[in-house]
Amino acid sequence: MKWLSVQPIAMGAIIVTGIPGVGKTTVMEAAAKARNLRIAVFGSVMFEVAQAEGLAKSRDDMRRLAPEVQKSIQREAAIRIAAMGKVIVDTHCTVKTPKGYLPGLPAWVLEALKPATIVLVEAGNEEIAKRRANDATRKRDEDSVAAIAEHQEYNRRFAAAYATLTGATVCTVRNADGKVEQAMNDILAVVS
Ligand code: AMP
Ligand code: MG
Repeated sequence: MKWLSVQPIAMGAIIVTGIPGVGKTTVMEAAAKARNLRIAVFGSVMFEVAQAEGLAKSRDDMRRLAPEVQKSIQREAAIRIAAMGKVIVDTHCTVKTPKGYLPGLPAWVLEALKPATIVLVEAGNEEIAKRRANDATRKRDEDSVAAIAEHQEYNRRFAAAYATLTGATVCTVRNADGKVEQAMNDILAVVS
């Protein structure tokens, strides 16, 4: 069958996204532990860059920087993560900034990471609002339930755009209350 002799495009990264408070980090840490996977947290690499430049005191300060500044830190983080080899990337489809939704995977990030799959971790809008209210470790935004719904909806649209540009597959993993193990297994099914 001739068409099967076509060279496959080199495998790219698995990108896991989800809005703040969806429980993405919890689910990914569980998945990494279960299968000995390496995770690169995009926000942590950005924070290293921002801190070194004296631009942010906490990771939650970064989304309030001027968009152009966020994008230059983002570009540097993408280059560093691309150099890490085979990792699963914990990041955001969009970052909610005072100037609007900033793409987490603009062209220069897509080029560096070459995503094979983009996972959207989602949960109920009310569930996310409650999780944020209960998380004292972060300066999470106090969004209304409607604003949380809007952010999750924007992320689906941006994921479709990223897929159109790269050919990446897109899937949704639900992280419902008390169902971290289910969400972890759903992510592992995509990763392996
Ligand atoms: P997180 O710990 O995943 O919530 O990430 C912390 C912060 O890093 C976010 O609030 C953003 O300011 C920033 N960040 C993470 N991923 C990206 C990205 N792909 N593009 C731009 N900023 C990002
Ligand atoms: Mg996180």
